Amino acid sequence: MSPDRRPSAPAPGLRRFTRPRTPRPETCELCGTPVARDGHRHLVRTDERALVCACAPCALLFDRPGSGAGRFRTVPDRYLTDPGHRWDDEAWDLLQIPVGVAFFFRNAALDRLVALYPSPAGATESELDPATWQRVLDAGPLAALLQPDVEALLLRRTHGRTACYLVPVDICYELVGRMRLLWQGFDGGAEARAALDAFFAEVERRAVPVGRQPATAPAGEPRP
Ligand SMILES: [Zn+2]
Ligand SMILES: [Zn+2]
Repeated sequence: MSPDRRPSAPAPGLRRFTRPRTPRPETCELCGTPVARDGHRHLVRTDERALVCACAPCALLFDRPGSGAGRFRTVPDRYLTDPGHRWDDEAWDLLQIPVGVAFFFRNAALDRLVALYPSPAGATESELDPATWQRVLDAGPLAALLQPDVEALLLRRTHGRTACYLVPVDICYELVGRMRLLWQGFDGGAEARAALDAFFAEVERRAVPVGRQPATAPAGEPRP
């Protein structure tokens, strides 16, 4: 089965993110060192929009924005939450996102915001006017901190409340892959929802409220 050929396949340039994971033991794709199956770092290969598995030293090498020619960028490992986030209820209702989960990242090459949500077909791009997303996202402090290509804003709507997180972009594609495997029926089904709950419990556990995270940018470096 080739998910790349489906009419509902994600936007061009994103398909490689949703490729099923290989079951073999993973190695660093830069130097060949074996890496732990779970919990290793990833780089985004910016010319192909692909995720690349990396060992810790290689991840460190490409850790700084603008390092090298920018062909590889290390996916940061910070998780931030915005406890004060207030989503516009009407905007959310308009979106009709099946499992109430969406994520956004800024595509540096296209210079635009991409809004995706999990679906049986993988990552599906929202066709909503990007200006609508932008307006809603700009209402909170996390959008200004978002690093292009490597971080995402992740939103989840449950019980009339929206949680908003800034997360590494690779975990969003992990979630998409998991949802695709478990998805049943129109709304995903019980198993997919249980996986979502577990996923967000982990995000919540790791997330630091925005404004309370330690400063990591060297002094004098302008904020992106
Ligand atoms: Zn390596
Ligand atoms: Zn990997």
